[in-house]
Amino acid sequence: MFDMPTILNSAARAASAKLAASLGLPAFEPGWVWLAGAGPGDPGLITLLGLHAIAEADVILFDALANEALLKFARPRAELVYAGKRRGKPSWKQADISHALVSLARKGKRVLRLKGGDPFVFGRGAEEALELARAGIPFRIVPGVTAGIGGLAYAGIPVTHRDTNHAVTFITGHGIDGKLPALDWSAISRGSPTIVVYMALAHADELAAKLIEAGRDAHEPAAIVSDATHDEQTVRVTTLEHLGRDAKESTAPAILVIGENVRLREGLDWLGVLQSGRTLNPDPLGRIDIKHAG
Ligand code: SAH
Repeated sequence: MFDMPTILNSAARAASAKLAASLGLPAFEPGWVWLAGAGPGDPGLITLLGLHAIAEADVILFDALANEALLKFARPRAELVYAGKRRGKPSWKQADISHALVSLARKGKRVLRLKGGDPFVFGRGAEEALELARAGIPFRIVPGVTAGIGGLAYAGIPVTHRDTNHAVTFITGHGIDGKLPALDWSAISRGSPTIVVYMALAHADELAAKLIEAGRDAHEPAAIVSDATHDEQTVRVTTLEHLGRDAKESTAPAILVIGENVRLREGLDWLGVLQSGRTLNPDPLGRIDIKHAG
């Protein structure tokens, strides 16, 4: 079902236990469920608490978007269960996952539910936690770096910047019925200069049309960041009017961002500098007054 990653040797595990003890991280008690975020992909983006949870858990139910390389830190005999919804396999239903969490905890296991990004950001973490609350199972939430912030940072796009946006709106492009959610597009369009959209590749066309109809400038910058923070990361910079077309040529998972903050990538694409020697433009917004410069 899933290739077991090479489990770390005992010296590495002892070092991780020492780190947890020296920082006073909480003990992972039997019968508890921890819902943790693994970050958007780069294994370095998990939190220390998340890593500690992996090292201590008896059972780990992990999602498609959680980087499996992190499972190397699991106990040698930990049960590693893929509970994702991709890979063309019969997928776990949400109720199956919640039931599994409850019954494993009742057996006295230390149960880790490892999710991509942050468990409380468009990740159904709250639904699972509410099931635990209903069943009287004690749980802890371990936040993670969400794709809509950390993923953009790896694309050199700051989610806020005072010259471009004092506010940001996060939305999902995938409602409960699989369609674009029925939001108040006029309010969304006026609400903040930057809009970050999760799960939106399929409906990017419709999303862009709704925003333009609601008054957003068709020429404003937008970007699509696929496989953010992974080695395969790709960034497509475009405009709102071409977002739908470019989304069709992009691969999932992808984050969409619309707003003037996208321009900052010209000056902040630090990964492009590392990977292809890209030259940065230190004044991507054209703000430096030539008269006063030098
Ligand atoms: N809880 C997650 C989001 C889960 S919803 C988080 O906080 O990041 C799944 C969506 O997240 C994907 O459709 C995509 O829009 C986004 N996503 C997650 N990981 C991503 C990545 N590495 N690159 C780009 N988008 C990602």
